[in-house]
Amino acid sequence: MKLYNTLSRKVEEFHPGDPKRVKVYTCGPTVYSYAHVGNFTCYVYWDLLVRVLALNGWTVDRVMNITDVGHLTSDADDGEDKMEKGARREGKTVWEVAEMYMNDFLENFRALNFVEPSAICRATDFISEDIAVVEALDKKGFLYDTTDGLYFDTSKFPKYADLGRLDLDHLRAGARIEFSSEKRNLSDFAVWKWVRDGEDHAMQWEYRGRMGYPGWHLECSTIIHEKLGEPIDIHCGGIDHIPVHHTNEIAQTEGAFGVKMANFWLHNNFITIDGEKISKSIGNVYYFSDLIERGFSHMDYKMWVLQGHFQSERNFAFGDLGAAKQRLLNYRNFAALRWQKPATNLDDVRKRMIEQLGNNLNSAGALAELDKVVGKSVPDDDFVKFLDDAFGLGIAESTQDIADDLKAKIAERFEAKKARDFAKADALRDEIEAMGIMLLDGADGSIWQYAN
Ligand SMILES: [Zn+2]
Repeated sequence: MKLYNTLSRKVEEFHPGDPKRVKVYTCGPTVYSYAHVGNFTCYVYWDLLVRVLALNGWTVDRVMNITDVGHLTSDADDGEDKMEKGARREGKTVWEVAEMYMNDFLENFRALNFVEPSAICRATDFISEDIAVVEALDKKGFLYDTTDGLYFDTSKFPKYADLGRLDLDHLRAGARIEFSSEKRNLSDFAVWKWVRDGEDHAMQWEYRGRMGYPGWHLECSTIIHEKLGEPIDIHCGGIDHIPVHHTNEIAQTEGAFGVKMANFWLHNNFITIDGEKISKSIGNVYYFSDLIERGFSHMDYKMWVLQGHFQSERNFAFGDLGAAKQRLLNYRNFAALRWQKPATNLDDVRKRMIEQLGNNLNSAGALAELDKVVGKSVPDDDFVKFLDDAFGLGIAESTQDIADDLKAKIAERFEAKKARDFAKADALRDEIEAMGIMLLDGADGSIWQYAN
């Protein structure tokens, strides 16, 4: 199996550290507002990753975090905490806000039929473990104290620029004008923030006799250390996280523990909607409730995402979602043939699809292989199960054989048509279609299909 590794900027052959078990970490959501459909594209791709690893025979141990503290509105360690901002907007406590948006996120996560991660970890459940990482970093001389927090001195970590291929000299010189804090280097970042006098920060914990809270990057280093152990095999996240969040995660982990954090880094690109960047001011922020209102399901959306590639920027439009919906319906009708005709041997198709998926998660290529046989061949239960294992589109679950009396009605209608009793045949067809079943007539009988 091959994957594009951001570390090398190359597609590389993938091998896990443990030949049987693959350790995967995916950065999760900050739960301060409802997640829109654009926020979920990456999780479709990371779910595909987990499924393809499993198809290749590995057991996958996947951990995802939920950020419910410490994520500031700016990457430069100033600005408001996103959770506090959400709480103020909603007139609720930060804990209530976290609970509400986390539950909404997880509801959609499960409606998208993702393989359940082995652990979903809330940042606030790992505060004492965070402090242990801070202590380890401090002991090794990476930290310095300032009025607003403990900062990581990035000049002491020579590999700091590696993942992002950052030009630190240029970065530092370019931003000197606004570089007026107590930071020693512009790229330095807070691993622990102090609650300052007069600051209203609801989530706070005592450390070194003062109240404070973790910097946003810390939770990922901590959770990986606690739940998976370094090095992990694959770390996933958005491309926007390369220069700051993931770069800082590496500095923390490798600084504190002296081991490599992750062997592969996978980064997803983003979607635009109707050709524009997703933004509230443009009014192109869609939620799953908007999709459902327009007659689309979570699975239609997932089908649309799987037609693309995690590294490509894509544009979302409702017209394209309609095409994806139709494609998924075609697959369900392909699956429905397993009760109507003898099965075809599809071993070669399965093999080619697994090859495509193993080629840097080329789901579009795998689906193109499938399309070559849809409408021409007949799957068996096993092949339908394979499709669901690979894509998680719930095909087996959303298809079921029709009742015997409906089958009898279909046969009766076909006989009426053959006997040129068109009035009876038409009446029966109307009756059958009213049950959501369409008929395709052949020489010796009708094939039934789902209308939707
Ligand atoms: Zn992270």
